[in-house]
Amino acid sequence: MKIPFADLRAQYESIKPEIDAAIASVIADSAFVGGYENHYVRGFEEAFAGYLNAKHCIGCANGTDSIEILLKAMDIGPGDEVIVPAHSWISTSEAVSAVGARPVFVDTHPTYYTLDAKLIEARVTPRTKAIIAVHLYGLPAEMDEVLAVARKHRLRVLEDCAQAHGAEYKGAKVGTLGDAASFSFFPGKNLGAYGDAGCMVTNDPELARRARMIANHGQLEKHNHIVEGRNSRLDGLQAAVLVVKLRHLPHWTSLRQKHAERYSGLLARLAVTAPAAPAHSRHVYHLYVVQVPDRAAVQGALAAAGVSTGVHYPKALPFLAAYAGHGHRPADFPVAARHMDRVLSLPMFPELTPEQIEAVVSVIADAAVVGG
Ligand SMILES: *Cc1c(COP(=O)(O)O)cnc(C)c1O
Repeated sequence: MKIPFADLRAQYESIKPEIDAAIASVIADSAFVGGYENHYVRGFEEAFAGYLNAKHCIGCANGTDSIEILLKAMDIGPGDEVIVPAHSWISTSEAVSAVGARPVFVDTHPTYYTLDAKLIEARVTPRTKAIIAVHLYGLPAEMDEVLAVARKHRLRVLEDCAQAHGAEYKGAKVGTLGDAASFSFFPGKNLGAYGDAGCMVTNDPELARRARMIANHGQLEKHNHIVEGRNSRLDGLQAAVLVVKLRHLPHWTSLRQKHAERYSGLLARLAVTAPAAPAHSRHVYHLYVVQVPDRAAVQGALAAAGVSTGVHYPKALPFLAAYAGHGHRPADFPVAARHMDRVLSLPMFPELTPEQIEAVVSVIADAAVVGG
């Protein structure tokens, strides 16, 4: 038995004629870059804004850039602080440092893995400018609580949606809840390109204008550089692939949700903590993450059985060498510290079969019995 963690090849095979035609068309047009004037890029930006029900979508080179460019567009820089979750991929905090501001970490919600909004206020200082809410693993952060603190202290809210394409909070798609949102289309994400890609989403026309300008060398029209920007473009090939894949995303999302339901049903009788979601949210299961008391044993048993798993993430951000200067200890973020030793990501991708899910759970059941 061999069960991969994700299977990009199987997904390509399932839509090969559409993808091949889209790629051939970009090559025939030589529409490789060209930013805003590139009709593949424009086409994707419009389609994705429509999918989210957002006013503006601006393509860029990757998800990390999309956070960084939005922070710049919000005028956040040296001397400023930005509140970020202790538990995320490093891009979230890295982008804050990249614009010269300081990431200030907040511990994790004990049940949902997203940031614990109740802890935000204690971390607000006169220098705080924004909160980045990460919809981690595909579950929306508790946005009403985040937005309430933000309103009270006049902070910007940036949603990091890299893991949550199509996730919903109280009926609205994530990416439309804060001031602006960043998306990654890294190949392994729920909506993945065939290379690096990302985008920024906002309903605020001024933020949209600034973000588009910064991503394109500070110009909105050719050779009129209003500020110094950078080169962060979504290219034609990636945009064309994304247009095709966006049409399939709702179906793939519902398959992920079915798989999650099956996993959770089977795991209910084991000493494994399955993911939970509040009733008002629609989790899109970028990752299906469980907690197990003896992770090394369970992960080892799964590996021996040919099942690939992952750990997202083995070290919470404040404990990484990169942030040693902050001088944080495990006691500062007790929930994140506890989770990082227990979380285990099981295989999750739309093409997964019920038999594969049953096989994964039966290995876990055996390992849990042996491991106690
Ligand atoms: C993947 C990811 C990013 C960054 O995306 P890239 O396209 O790889 O730069 C940012 N935040 C989170 C939470 C991610 O998972």
